[in-house]
Amino acid sequence: MPNKRSRHTKTQKFNCPYCKERMWRMGSPKYYLFYQGKMEMQKGLNLTSKKASFLANQRSTCVDNNIWIEEFFCENDGQIWMRLYRGEDKNIIACLAKAEDWKRTTKTIDPERYHPSASEFTLKMSRNTSRSFNLSQ
Ligand SMILES: [Zn+2]
Repeated sequence: MPNKRSRHTKTQKFNCPYCKERMWRMGSPKYYLFYQGKMEMQKGLNLTSKKASFLANQRSTCVDNNIWIEEFFCENDGQIWMRLYRGEDKNIIACLAKAEDWKRTTKTIDPERYHPSASEFTLKMSRNTSRSFNLSQ
């Protein structure tokens, strides 16, 4: 891969929410969050009530291209999924992805249940919450 490093490209740095060290983007797919129904669209997309009901009548879900979940890596804490929000000034605000965020992505991971195609995120969540599932089964 050619290393085209432009002086004008501003690389935004992200810090680990646990140890505050720098963490690295893994180039994972971006899992965009979507909103369902009038109330969610109005709140999530910052619309007027009128616009939100119009949109909700047009389609059942609406993807927000400025909010997504992406994989990061911290040397101390390993794999971390962050929810990123790109504001109007193009700066990205990152915070830890929560279970509610995953429910809004097209990936629809359910961290409450073990699933055969579960990602490491799910496994990590399961480890943190319960040890009920058994990989050897
Ligand atoms: Zn860390």
